[in-house]
Amino acid sequence: MRITFLGADHEVTGSCHYVEAGDKRFLVDCGMHQGPDIYETEEIPVAASGIDYVFITHAHIDHSGLLPLLYAHGFRGQIFATVATCDLCNIMLKDSAHIQQSEAEWRNRKAKRAGGGEIAPLYTMEDAQGVLELFVPCHYHQKVVVAENIEIEFYDAGHLLGSSSIKATLREGNEKRVVVFSGDIGKPNRPLIKDPEYITEADYVLMESTYGDKEHGDPKDFAKMLAQVIDETLSIGGNLVIPAFSVGRTQEILYFIRRIKEEKLLTYVKPDFPVYMDSPLAVEATQIFSENVSECFDEEAEALVSNGINPIGFPGLRVAVTSDESKMINFDNHPKVIISASGMCEAGRIRHHLKHNLWQAKSTILFVGFQVPGTLGNSLLNGAKEVHLFGETVNVAARIENLPGISGHADRTELLKWIGEFKSPVKKVFIVHGDDAIVDKFAGAVQERTGFDATAPYSGDCFDLLTGEKIKEGSRIKVDKTKKTAASKAASNVFARLVAAGERLMRFITGCEGMANKDLAKMADQINSLVDKLEK
Ligand SMILES: [Zn+2]
Ligand SMILES: [Zn+2]
Repeated sequence: MRITFLGADHEVTGSCHYVEAGDKRFLVDCGMHQGPDIYETEEIPVAASGIDYVFITHAHIDHSGLLPLLYAHGFRGQIFATVATCDLCNIMLKDSAHIQQSEAEWRNRKAKRAGGGEIAPLYTMEDAQGVLELFVPCHYHQKVVVAENIEIEFYDAGHLLGSSSIKATLREGNEKRVVVFSGDIGKPNRPLIKDPEYITEADYVLMESTYGDKEHGDPKDFAKMLAQVIDETLSIGGNLVIPAFSVGRTQEILYFIRRIKEEKLLTYVKPDFPVYMDSPLAVEATQIFSENVSECFDEEAEALVSNGINPIGFPGLRVAVTSDESKMINFDNHPKVIISASGMCEAGRIRHHLKHNLWQAKSTILFVGFQVPGTLGNSLLNGAKEVHLFGETVNVAARIENLPGISGHADRTELLKWIGEFKSPVKKVFIVHGDDAIVDKFAGAVQERTGFDATAPYSGDCFDLLTGEKIKEGSRIKVDKTKKTAASKAASNVFARLVAAGERLMRFITGCEGMANKDLAKMADQINSLVDKLEK
């Protein structure tokens, strides 16, 4: 029984853990790297076709985004996730495939002009659609028997609709080990979704540490803070532009705006002010939120629903799905609120709204989430006087504001409380999903607080879950940013796909041993004729 750490080790994104128990192999999360990558991520030690299952903690792309690539490399096992995570992956993985394809097309147009070769997207819409067929929706607290020696249970992690911590009970011979994968742990008292649940029993715990060195401070009344910005902007004839992630943050903002309208929190602006949600993904996600009320909403939100109130809907909410509908927003001269993606202004329709509003002194741009250094959102927050959008220089005259403290992650105190709830003596806590500068310190804090042995593994580190010993050390090579261009990465990915197809074939052939000679001979002929054809 072994676990190998593959992603989000001494870094925050690209979550992926590989477990072998008995004759079964599974992954927990299969995420994509987003933003800066610190350490080289080691390859999964087995061909994709040799993996039996994947368990997904939640739908964020840094936890689910490489599933279509796994499929392209021949994975055909089952993927277990909560009902809402399955629903959200359905829209997010297709959206991600669309982004991969458009990016490859854009690079190819550029390469063509420069006389370069063609590159393939990391994965395609077909890959996304294929992998979505493999999802098995599960309910929270349902004991799911995945295999004879593997049982899993999903606990609410309070981080995103459908988000979970996964408790896996693994058996090998007479031995049993309980391993808890925290997923991303949410902040208590968020709108709409439930608080993170505590788990008390485990031999091993893998836990995230995103805010392992930060405190969120006193809880704030975001509806009140937002109401003030709306009042100050719309009353002087400006637009309030809110860049927000389509899934999660947008729905929280809708929740606050509904409260503002209902509780009449505005002084100068009438409560019927128009609000535009300009993101097709956000529109779909909002629908999914409304469909998962009974399992995912907290008591407050559920009470609203049972009184016939939609917690994230209100009169005056207009949605833009098509790009024509999106363009029409800028022809409307009334002061309004525009919520659009992406949250850090790196892509998407928000850039059009910035182009139309940044130069207007009456308008406000309000940030409602963390802005990674290097993004357009970050440079605006840092007071950039002009920015470049669509080949134009745009003067920044609008007011730039930030709603600090809105976060989907537990802070240091809340993380320590979460791990402190484990009752049984935990053999080891593995600290993952945290910055290189944070994880070791946070491991120390966990050890001090709980008395459990805690360590922050690197990508490639492998531990024996029966003895608790480390049996292999990862390479710990830092990413050489000058080395791999996106194009060469994508090109090598295509060859990897071919090798994976070959491995899948070999695995299939090995499984045929013992079949009737007649069938074996027929298959051998078929394979040979395929190779004959390919060699021509
Ligand atoms: Zn997340
Ligand atoms: Zn995450």
